Amino acid sequence: MATRKKSSRRAPARQASVRTKVKAPRKYVYSFDEIRIAERAAGSADNLRGLLGGKGAHLAEMKRLGLPVPPGFVVTTEACNAFLAARDRFPRGMWDEVLSAVKALERSTGKRFGDSAKPLLVSCRSGAKFSMPGMMDTVLNIGLNDAVAEGMVRLTGDERFVYDAYRRLIQMFSTVVLELSAKPFESLLSDYRSRRGVWNDAELPAEDLKEITTGFKRIVEEEAHRPFPTDALEQLELATKAVFRSWNGKRAQDYRNAAGIAHDLGTAVNIVTMVFGNLGTDSGTGVMTTRNVTTGEDQLEGDFLVNAQGEDVVAGNRRTLPIAELGRVMPKVDKELRRISRLLEKHYREVQDIEFTIERGKLWILQTRDAKRTAKAAIRIAVDLAREKMITKAEAVLRVQPDHVDFFLHPQLEAGARASAREKGDLLAEGLNVSPGAAIGQIVFDADTAEHWAHQLKKPVILVRPETRPDDVHGMLAAQGVVTSRGGRTSHAALVARQFGIPAVVGVVDIEVNVERRQLKSASGTLLKEGDWLSIDGATGEVFKGELTTLVPDVTDPYFVELLSWADRFRELGVWANADYARDAERARRFGAEGIGLCRTEHMFFEAERLPIVQSMILARTPEERAEHLAKLLPVQRADFVGLFKAMDGLPVTIRLIDPPLHEFLPSRDELNKAVTELELRLKLNDGDASVLQRELHAKRKVLESVEALHEQNPMLGLRGVRLGILMPELVRMQMRAIAEAACECAREGVKLKPKIMIPLAATSAELKVQRALLEEEARMVLKEQGQKIPFQFGTMIEVPRAALVADRIAEFAEFFSFGTNDLTQTTFGISRDDAETGFLSEYLQKGILVRNPFATLDERGVGELMRIGVKLGRARRKNLEIGICGEHGGDPSSIDFCHRTGLDYVSCSPFRVPVARLAAAHAALANGRRKE
Ligand code: PEP
Ligand code: MG
Repeated sequence: MATRKKSSRRAPARQASVRTKVKAPRKYVYSFDEIRIAERAAGSADNLRGLLGGKGAHLAEMKRLGLPVPPGFVVTTEACNAFLAARDRFPRGMWDEVLSAVKALERSTGKRFGDSAKPLLVSCRSGAKFSMPGMMDTVLNIGLNDAVAEGMVRLTGDERFVYDAYRRLIQMFSTVVLELSAKPFESLLSDYRSRRGVWNDAELPAEDLKEITTGFKRIVEEEAHRPFPTDALEQLELATKAVFRSWNGKRAQDYRNAAGIAHDLGTAVNIVTMVFGNLGTDSGTGVMTTRNVTTGEDQLEGDFLVNAQGEDVVAGNRRTLPIAELGRVMPKVDKELRRISRLLEKHYREVQDIEFTIERGKLWILQTRDAKRTAKAAIRIAVDLAREKMITKAEAVLRVQPDHVDFFLHPQLEAGARASAREKGDLLAEGLNVSPGAAIGQIVFDADTAEHWAHQLKKPVILVRPETRPDDVHGMLAAQGVVTSRGGRTSHAALVARQFGIPAVVGVVDIEVNVERRQLKSASGTLLKEGDWLSIDGATGEVFKGELTTLVPDVTDPYFVELLSWADRFRELGVWANADYARDAERARRFGAEGIGLCRTEHMFFEAERLPIVQSMILARTPEERAEHLAKLLPVQRADFVGLFKAMDGLPVTIRLIDPPLHEFLPSRDELNKAVTELELRLKLNDGDASVLQRELHAKRKVLESVEALHEQNPMLGLRGVRLGILMPELVRMQMRAIAEAACECAREGVKLKPKIMIPLAATSAELKVQRALLEEEARMVLKEQGQKIPFQFGTMIEVPRAALVADRIAEFAEFFSFGTNDLTQTTFGISRDDAETGFLSEYLQKGILVRNPFATLDERGVGELMRIGVKLGRARRKNLEIGICGEHGGDPSSIDFCHRTGLDYVSCSPFRVPVARLAAAHAALANGRRKE
């Protein structure tokens, strides 16, 4: 029971009051009518949500708007944090405030808590600053005991309703507060259901529910070794503590980790007068969003149930009705709900997710919050709200997250593969299309297996469950996709999948999921076991057996195009692409790339038919021999560049000269050694034709000799980049010639050219000077031969710290810089980029020694500082020096933000990241304001 000491402020307060104002004791409880006081205490709307939690702040706000919200109050997140810090003790004074707030509730409702004549029942619900659907606890119907139940039966004349509410209280209280297993309660309910031959609990008669209530109390005594508490205030106190504690529950922590929510925010507790949706056919309950959050269309989306209480809708164990049916069943309520829906959307300037209950024909709003949505819907809604002038275009751009755009580019099932799978009868079933995108993976039936297979065994998995619960979230996050046989659009599985962009199909009633046997069965009798392949389409709701092929989605969706065009208006950074082939360049251009920031020319050497020529060129013994092989490479490289220039007609194309060490093109030293030893052995043992073996051995030894000659202990710090160009000038001369000849050919055809020649890995200005002179000479020769005038720009990559530190000198010979942050990160940290992720780096990340992977998100303090220096020095020497980035960081939103702040001209990233980068660059501009000139 609540026996907290009265707060006793000590004498010094009086002393202090002489000189300063007495500091009011902290207020931990606010009634829904006290929003103004709470606003003053919090200081801002954002802080108000922090203090009262999203749910509490919105309930109070709705009260202020005059909407039908049941009376209630909020215990603040500060109380929660104080409670958790004091190891599960309420802060001083808090409980007294709760008792006064209960008294006030009694006054305003005319009912009394724990009183059988005029019973007041309340719910105790969690509500953090950021919504974490289903991750924390809630207890409904607090205030019921045997006497109150009998009193309510007398008042309502509805024994079924009362005992349904009572058994729910015991059930929820037991699992949430007493932390008992849900199983014995569920199995008792299911015994009664099967005895009556009914599918859902709502069909059980009053006498059964009464017996079940007694049975539940017995289970509590047996399992918890204590009776179910009959005192209403004790129920409330224990429930409040449990809700506070649930902030630190595993599933809540997992969710916060995944959603990037801080762990120190705490949850508020909302104590709200119960209203009942299970009082007959003029009552009901539902959840809906003010627009369709799957497609973004401007129509209500959601489900409701007649004669049901809150969790029935989301639990998925009763077949819900679509919200469009409400008008038919309860036309007046429907009209009112639509009015409120518009009002709330306008008020919050955002699509809302609303929970409501209808008690004997009266509509009550129990919650409103910003609705979670699919990526597709996020984009359409943002565009529509801006067109409707509810928000500005800048706000619309800010409301779409880079992840939404990224998701938009997710693969889809290929139409042909889909059609033939249908024909073959591989379409197992269709369910609700709640989170778009195609997912292919091996079936797993529980969250732990999903996580294990995905993370440890590196298998793509599809999590298949009858329904999901909050403690399945870690498995959902590990899975490629999720399928549930039950549940609706607002089911847990649907909400979570949508938020995290996991393709999902729910409510697939035609498949029977047997978790115990680890198998699923379709209506037509197909049996699939754990490990079998499944392909799902979260946009259509189809579930196929087997591995279907996927394809890149259509990026011509008009809302997507429009939103990105708005983003382009706000961003100041250019967005270029890293592309090696004409086809990549074409795609990049379709996605909005404004240039090629990096063409890795050596990638062209790796093509199967070219590699032998490259190898012969490297192994050549004489300059003449080498020249012969280079001459063979020239036309193929030229053709590549022609393709690239044509694809990017009118836009800059940055061609990076060969970078990797030559041994990368040759067979591995270990394998050659092994082959030589084997051949020697076979010769000794006379195993095979000696002359053939001799010839083979000779050839292998020759290759091995060259490989040995090129061998370096640290090749990434060795003969590569500009060093290679200096030591093997004929190689880069050939590349320059290929570029120049391609440019001449294109110019003759009328292609507009902006070719940029990029020299990799320079550390000194002397290297650049020498290399550039050589390249310019070759270019001049070609232009003269061809009688053309094409301006080539020469620039360099800044990939080693020294280059950044002497950028002023480097800029003497470079007309542009591009930060190669893959190498710059490697050389700044001294961590091998090839081994990093498989080595100690992951351990560092797990232990928090490094907060982020510096190869994914730019390390601002270190690598970023070098970049700042490089930009400053470079521009000091050459005012109009063009500066970009072409490491992987060029497609990472937070690194893009840094590039904006550092005054880069453009970011260059892989073609698929281009739309993401366009949006991220707009976000950077909108968040940071205009850049310094
Ligand atoms: C870099 O180092 O960032 C870069 C783009 O070059 P590469 O990845 O080819 O070494
Ligand atoms: Mg590099």
